[in-house]
Amino acid sequence: MAKENKAPQQTKTPHATIDSCAAEGCKKHVERMHFCQEHFDWYKEGLINKRGQRPSDFDKKHQLWLRKKAA
Ligand SMILES: [Zn+2]
Repeated sequence: MAKENKAPQQTKTPHATIDSCAAEGCKKHVERMHFCQEHFDWYKEGLINKRGQRPSDFDKKHQLWLRKKAA
């Protein structure tokens, strides 16, 4: 009767060519999509696009994100 929550296991693609984060200046290893965990959060928040590029209002968004993160 016990309910089991089986999360699908992610298999790593052996032929991945890029395994460092796509964000500018970041050399961390990829955790999600093309980003490290931190920059994946940035991407979700709209701080960077999926190519890791920053928008023109990045500074403003980054400040808001830092405040949100600290809260
Ligand atoms: Zn990164």
